Amino acid sequence: MIKTSAYATPSPTSPLAPFTIDRREPGKHDVLIDILYCGVCHSDIHQARDEWGGAIYPMVPGHEIIGTILRIGSEVSRWHIGDTVGVGCFVDSCRQCESCEAGEEQYCLHGASFTYNSREQDGKTPTYGGYSTQITVDESYVVRIPAGIPLERAAPLLCAGITTYSPLRHFGVNRHDKIAIVGLGGLGHMAVKLGKALGAEVTVLSHSPNKRDDAIRLGADNFIVTRDLEVFTQHAGRFSFILDTVSAQHDYNAYLSLLSRGGTMVLVGLPEPTPLSAWPLVMGGRRLAGSLIGGIRETQEMLDFCAEHGIAADVEVIPIQKINDAYDRALKNDVHYRFVIDVASLK
Ligand code: NAP
Ligand code: ZN
Repeated sequence: MIKTSAYATPSPTSPLAPFTIDRREPGKHDVLIDILYCGVCHSDIHQARDEWGGAIYPMVPGHEIIGTILRIGSEVSRWHIGDTVGVGCFVDSCRQCESCEAGEEQYCLHGASFTYNSREQDGKTPTYGGYSTQITVDESYVVRIPAGIPLERAAPLLCAGITTYSPLRHFGVNRHDKIAIVGLGGLGHMAVKLGKALGAEVTVLSHSPNKRDDAIRLGADNFIVTRDLEVFTQHAGRFSFILDTVSAQHDYNAYLSLLSRGGTMVLVGLPEPTPLSAWPLVMGGRRLAGSLIGGIRETQEMLDFCAEHGIAADVEVIPIQKINDAYDRALKNDVHYRFVIDVASLK
């Protein structure tokens, strides 16, 4: 076992604090990664505070991991020592079910092993995330970070990037689309950049009037504040596609009315359950869908797309000692637009 420094929380109500975990020695197909940066996703907060239920403690969050390969197992074929790589939201899956065969491992029918707050495929060993100095991962669940993306700005692509890229591609968003991104946070700001790179006209729907200048600077064509309920009648039927990234409860029905006939709204934000009416769907022949991160193949495709289009996250780099403060600031909507932990502060 490899003793590894980390930050963990022992319970839903405790702050994160220094903790030591054991990483396994790399097996034949494993790589051992020296972690450089780890992004802070709102899902880290939901899970650290057990907002989704069933949390496993002690919990070491973090699923936007960038690092370099330190050691490789005897049969590793894709990676070399020193390669710059990423690990996203899952570290293993059954590899045999229909979803895994389709390269959509996140939907593994036997349950993917998520990077933290989950269990390895043995069903027993808890997984620990990237708020730590090293991680051992099977070589098939690692992606290559293309040259040209600053590493701290690449970290959030591993979750915020793929979570927004996947539905934009899946629903074929292109230059003929007028799309809306709901919520300008970590996911939302990536969606703006990716939507623009795909050629769409992009509107940000935000409950924060003070984000207007940022939205335009990030590339959005329009910015609408949703506090005034009149905007929902004013802009009814305007968008062919809506991506909803909001982390807190809000009225989906109001947003559905903004879709044009046959348009699609995709939920990626995971707030508390919210009531849904059939009316706005039925009356406009509209569709409501959900999407979970993306598979390994699509994550690599997204990284290469970002490198080609000069896309990276806007980040505020913090030492790990500031993590509890960062959670508080995220909950106050004071993130511009992703916190990223400099893991050197833990070494
Ligand atoms: P984030 O950076 O905190 O951004 C969330 C945004 O939601 C905020 O910037 C804010 O945008 C909006 N918002 C927050 N509180 C609100 C409220 N009370 N009413 C209306 N809008 C509010 O979070 P994130 O990291 O982007 O994650 C967003 C959500 O996606 C989380 O629930 C997370 O768990 C989930 N997620 C899902 C997946 C997936 O695979 N489906 C992957 C990663 C994360 P405005 O100020 O612009 O309104
Ligand atoms: Zn995430």
